[in-house]
Amino acid sequence: MNVIIFGPPGAGKGTQSDFIVSKYNLFKLSTGDLLRKEINKKSLLGIKITSIVNSGSLVSDDIMNNLIESVISNKDYKNRIIFDGYPRNLSQAQNLNKLLLKYDQKINLVLRLKVSLDVIKKRITGRVICSKCGKIYNKYFNLPPINSNCCYEDILKKRDDDILDVAIKRYETYEKSTEPVLDFYRKMDLIKDINGEDEINTIYIKINEYLAAIEAWLCAITPYKYVFKKLYLINYGPNSRN
Ligand code: ADP
Ligand code: ZN
Repeated sequence: MNVIIFGPPGAGKGTQSDFIVSKYNLFKLSTGDLLRKEINKKSLLGIKITSIVNSGSLVSDDIMNNLIESVISNKDYKNRIIFDGYPRNLSQAQNLNKLLLKYDQKINLVLRLKVSLDVIKKRITGRVICSKCGKIYNKYFNLPPINSNCCYEDILKKRDDDILDVAIKRYETYEKSTEPVLDFYRKMDLIKDINGEDEINTIYIKINEYLAAIEAWLCAITPYKYVFKKLYLINYGPNSRN
């Protein structure tokens, strides 16, 4: 299955998709992460992106398209991608559809996390990320476990763009471009609304219900293909023990 997790910056998309990825053996396509990787490489593209991202604006469709096509075209990830933070506007949604069609895939579900600006402000100012493993935490709501052997307090870093003013700008950009995207997926009857202000675990349980239902359905309509693929991934996939 291919899933989109949709919501304003700070809604908890990364937090939830990290759980989903390991449970359902999906590949997380986070355009934010892809962009940050380019920025850290300090490639020509990275330098161009830096100023755009830091001002809270969106990167051009062309750049995004190239970045995501490299993932969608990869056979290892076929029909097991979770899109985190993409698409953000109608033209990206249309582009994504074209790309998926080209590689004989589709979206099965759009999870929409609803969170108010007031809550977002706290989440963003408190967000910290482990500089070793990339796990997301929060100074106010979600500290790493005390006995963690990786995520110590002194290696938790803030993101450069997690400044209150930038966060508000990102929220406004999201609000402006979001309705047409939701409309696009509403017509395809793919959206499930989720209260993103609930506790992390409550949200996860809800999301899990939706995903399990889709898995069951996919398994019912293509049982052999499905079971073989599942077994293959358990033994040889990216999260396998081999
Ligand atoms: P996004 O990927 O949507 O930008 P993140 O997953 O990075 O959002 O979450 C933003 C911040 O809010 C992080 O610090 C995270 O730990 C915290 N957070 C995420 N979900 C919740 C929640 N349900 N309740 C409280 N804090 C949360
Ligand atoms: Zn860590």
